[in-house]
Amino acid sequence: MPAAAPPKLDWMDVLNEQFEWNTTDDLKSWFTKLTGKQPDVSKSSINEFQKCLNFIRDQVSALHFDEPVDLKTLDKKLSGIELSMAKATALPTLHAKANGTSDADLLKAMEETILVQFASFLSDFLADDNESSLNRCEGLFKEQRSFDSESLAPPMETEKRWRKEIPILIECKLLSSTDIHRCGDFFIGKAKARFCSEACRFRTFQLNKQLTDPDYLADKQRRYRQNQQSGKA
Ligand SMILES: [Zn+2]
Repeated sequence: MPAAAPPKLDWMDVLNEQFEWNTTDDLKSWFTKLTGKQPDVSKSSINEFQKCLNFIRDQVSALHFDEPVDLKTLDKKLSGIELSMAKATALPTLHAKANGTSDADLLKAMEETILVQFASFLSDFLADDNESSLNRCEGLFKEQRSFDSESLAPPMETEKRWRKEIPILIECKLLSSTDIHRCGDFFIGKAKARFCSEACRFRTFQLNKQLTDPDYLADKQRRYRQNQQSGKA
């Protein structure tokens, strides 16, 4: 049987995966999935990688909310990247050249490759005269999230803007919630699809039912009052 093809590096897939990472270990598992090995990388390498993904995330938000993208910063970041067109482990044929053979070098090459892919997408998107749209799934999920590093947490102010597009999150005052979240999946579509998958649509339907259930709301208010009394709110 032929060996399964390795997972492909794609900027939007990585951005969508990133949204689910709570810990540095989640990021490391992603690296292992792509490369087949446990990464030996420093915290600062990981932070740099995260920062680059967050930069792309900000630009995606700007595109969606019809705001200018930061071409100047993107241009500056691109100017330092050396491209290569050759077969390479865990990287597409067209990729940013790694500076060396360490895992940190590979992570950096992945980061830069993702940036180049995003720039290419952006170039097409800007020329497309709004023919296609960049959508974010309108699904919801419930999970008490805490992050082991600040760079892993999606920027809350931007998240709030995305959450404001979902009426139930406004009605139930969940714009800053740490346990109810909007699904992080982006996708490109000509027609306006609302959900990333059937499973996500179903999960959201169930959660909507729960959120509008009077018992759930009463319980939430009760917990809120308790927290206030104990000074935690
Ligand atoms: Zn979804």
